[in-house]
Amino acid sequence: MINASLKQLSAQLAGKKISSVELTQLYLDRIAALNPGLNAYITLNPDMSLAQARAADERIAQGRAQALTGIPVAQKDIFCAKGWRTTCGSKMLANFISPYDAHVIEQFNRAGAVNLGKTNMDEFAMGSSNETSYFGVVKNPWNRNAVPGGSSGGSAAAVAARLCAAATGTDTGGSIRQPAALCGISGLKPTYGVCSRYGMIAFASSLDQAGLMARSAEDLALLLNTMAGFDERDSTSLQREKEDYARDLSKPLNGLRIGLPKEFFAEGLSSDVAQAVEAAIAEYRKLGARVMDISLPNSRLSIPVYYVLAPAEASSNLSRFDGVRYGYRAPDYADLTDMYEKSRAQGFGEEVKRRIMIGTYVLSHGYYDAYYLKAQKIRRLIAQDFAAAFTQCDVIMGPTSPTTAFNLGEKGDDPVQMYLSDIYTIAVNLAGLPGMSISCGFGTNNMPVGLQIIGNYFAEARMLNAAHQYQLATDWHQKMPAEVNGK
Ligand code: GLN
Repeated sequence: MINASLKQLSAQLAGKKISSVELTQLYLDRIAALNPGLNAYITLNPDMSLAQARAADERIAQGRAQALTGIPVAQKDIFCAKGWRTTCGSKMLANFISPYDAHVIEQFNRAGAVNLGKTNMDEFAMGSSNETSYFGVVKNPWNRNAVPGGSSGGSAAAVAARLCAAATGTDTGGSIRQPAALCGISGLKPTYGVCSRYGMIAFASSLDQAGLMARSAEDLALLLNTMAGFDERDSTSLQREKEDYARDLSKPLNGLRIGLPKEFFAEGLSSDVAQAVEAAIAEYRKLGARVMDISLPNSRLSIPVYYVLAPAEASSNLSRFDGVRYGYRAPDYADLTDMYEKSRAQGFGEEVKRRIMIGTYVLSHGYYDAYYLKAQKIRRLIAQDFAAAFTQCDVIMGPTSPTTAFNLGEKGDDPVQMYLSDIYTIAVNLAGLPGMSISCGFGTNNMPVGLQIIGNYFAEARMLNAAHQYQLATDWHQKMPAEVNGK
């Protein structure tokens, strides 16, 4: 049951082979057994989950089921969910019970999916290792001394350890793709604007995008069908015809043009990751794809550009946490200013404070032109590189992350080393493009390697097609951590 695809689960639920209550309980039992060691979930609420499962069972009995009705989905703790504690991985929101649902949560609720729990994450989604969470580090199910990646590390670990059928994530600079790669699962960040940001706690609004983490591309397509959609409460939400993201899954890949950016295979890429990615490209040739070299000359600037723009937006977004309206308030203070200062000093962790300071600096008078404006100009150049590449190829492929999962604590003292984890993912966010990661082998330390697939705007169906055909031909996506195997 825990290895069944969403389509199979849906058929089992429809055929009354299992009820949603039973399926939800099965996952809750697995979580009770395995989560203490992994720390993938911050908040569980079995009563609320099972109430949704009972409602789903009734809906199935009435013949009103949709594809995800009764399926237990874990929600990243960045999405506000009514009645659920929603912390964003921060002490600042440690006791915040959301009075409303994010649009993404509404979409899953409307479909009759079960909210299985809120997953752990880096504080305010800032991080690449899930070590900045106020609620403790998440362990990688493949090796508990290793990080799961971040910031959606809890979701990635939960999917890999079969502690949910699928999970949501968010990706501002790589936070779906990089943890998906490090945990050996499939992850998709859609085109910016395809999913609403309403009720998704803001980090860097021009880059943040909700997406999905699952065991296969086929599952991702079904999930995206539910999650995507216009929402007038997010001014950057795109109003488009509804599409079926699963429509192209079974198309053959004959003639698919794959671009390999030379910058993604240069210095800094570890040789075991390179080998696994090259083997995956060879498999694509066998499947009929044509492979060509391309160049994204400005992509090497994506990390410095991102670390100007993302902190700038974060410093503005996080100003709302002032101890007055909601969130943490320092217990002792002398006056109003002191209350602001102490609440923020005590409520935010180190990485968040570092970003607020950088952001405030680059936006300040005298530095705005030199940093913020300059970064915006380079952002445009990075997007133009992709536009030029997509005149030659249909999809771009390369590694998701330069290395496999590193050890807990290994990069904690060196933020720049940590930032380099996202060297291949960040340019995609800067351009607003869709990107995904699928598992394509293992490195020398027996940890999973991710293959990144980048598409043009709204090319999700084509990317999912490319990923699904690869997953039909190979079985990397079916591997599971020995530790959780059979439990
Ligand atoms: N790791 C990157 C950062 O720390 C990206 C995070 C994300 O995508 N949310 O900002």
